Amino acid sequence: MKYDLTIIGSGPGGYVAAIRASQLGLKTAIIEKYATLGGTCLNVGCIPSKALLDSSEHYHNATHTFTTHGIDIKGEVQVNLEQMIARKDSVVKQTCDGIDFLMKKNKIDVYRGTGSFITKNKIKVTGEETEEIETANVIIATGSKPASLPGVDIDKKRVITSTEALKMTEIPKHLVIIGGGVIGLELGSIYARLGAKVTVIEYTSSIIPTMDGSLGKELQRILKKQGFDFYFNHKVKAAKTKGKEVSIIADNEKGEEITFTADYCLVSVGRKAYTDGLGLEAIGLKTDERGRIETDTNLETSIKGIYAVGDVVKGAMLAHKAEEEGVFVAEIIAGQKPHINYNLIPGVVYTWPEVAGVGATEEELKKAGVKYKSGSFPMRALGRARASMDIDGFVKILADETTDEVLGVHMIGPRVADLIAEAVTAMEFRASAEDISRMSHAHPTYAEAVKEAALAATANRSLHM
Ligand code: FAD
Repeated sequence: MKYDLTIIGSGPGGYVAAIRASQLGLKTAIIEKYATLGGTCLNVGCIPSKALLDSSEHYHNATHTFTTHGIDIKGEVQVNLEQMIARKDSVVKQTCDGIDFLMKKNKIDVYRGTGSFITKNKIKVTGEETEEIETANVIIATGSKPASLPGVDIDKKRVITSTEALKMTEIPKHLVIIGGGVIGLELGSIYARLGAKVTVIEYTSSIIPTMDGSLGKELQRILKKQGFDFYFNHKVKAAKTKGKEVSIIADNEKGEEITFTADYCLVSVGRKAYTDGLGLEAIGLKTDERGRIETDTNLETSIKGIYAVGDVVKGAMLAHKAEEEGVFVAEIIAGQKPHINYNLIPGVVYTWPEVAGVGATEEELKKAGVKYKSGSFPMRALGRARASMDIDGFVKILADETTDEVLGVHMIGPRVADLIAEAVTAMEFRASAEDISRMSHAHPTYAEAVKEAALAATANRSLHM
């Protein structure tokens, strides 16, 4: 078969590129080596983690807030972990089946097997059968895999990655998490809510260190209340399993060796680009020092007609970033002139409360010497937040001191993963803080915190503080 475009990998970068290419009239094929389409995000990432976060949050509320709401449960509320995991699996299945449907609807040919380069225009698919595909263009969208640390033996039973953490057969008594980033905190939240003691060992001095510093501080305070323990400036040197016990050995900030013991240890120290089995050597394509495929600003590699998107290239490892890049490359191949505003790709943490940020952090503005104004508004001052008993958190808006243009928005609170879209829209249209403050926000909503923070940033004139 001969195609205009062949995509290797069916995660959010790959399958979205395929749909957009097909919309633009390109004859498109997609190759996936796993049994189901959707990549990390749908199978072992975004979707299953959110399914378990929602289930565990229901349990947490049943055991912590129902009585205050006036709901008394007669008898013990129990976790049925097997059912919780089964429901998660069914959500994943429905979502992956949806991608099969979209491929059919858009007349995209799906090849099952590992795609590898024979030449730049010829791809071998090794699955149950071996096939060869001829193609004018290729998008590499092979994603990423969990990273590890020297000395840490991931046995996938007691020392686990996010993939195993999404299909546990028991609730850990004590879960030690190496790494205080997004994935570790989300998965830690699930098991903390279900009753596990959760200890986070972090190499740097804060959690979610790439986000605005105020968010990490507030989230740490809230997670502590939920039973998390944090150890900062600790360098993990080893994690080893003996029977049902894991020993995690780390150096603390004074260089003293400390041993933590747990029944499970989740290694969440980031992810690394995945290019195994692609046969890059056959076409002479090199990867950078972190194993990522290098591209130019059009996401084209050093070989004309071969592009790469998503986790396998530099930038934030996020599904929506991969999707934007997939659409971008399909449009480039079709001869259009698309654009991605990388500054406006929001980052989100789906703990409860949620955390979200877009644009410059306060630390970045200080470092760049930009003169800015900051306006904050606490969730607890909102009627909506008091009604739902979600009073932790705040919205912070950073605006240019002279022009009032919004430069960054950082929030922690109920449903801020959804609220951040308002900030992205405003910043895409280069709104000023005053612009946001003069727009009507429905009452009572969590979104009123955005308006109030904008008022605070405009001239320190929040109405409800
Ligand atoms: P992937 O989704 O990794 O897909 C790559 C695909 O390529 C895979 O299916 C793989 O099997 C296939 N493949 C690889 N090599 C070959 C080959 N040679 N031939 C054929 N197929 C091949 N991001 C968010 O934005 N929001 C979240 O809430 C979020 N939560 C996450 C939670 C967890 C636990 C994890 C692990 C990740 C999460 N992410 C989240 C990150 C997100 O999943 C990734 O950024 C996203 O999946 C990257 O998309 P991609 O298309 O680049 O690659």
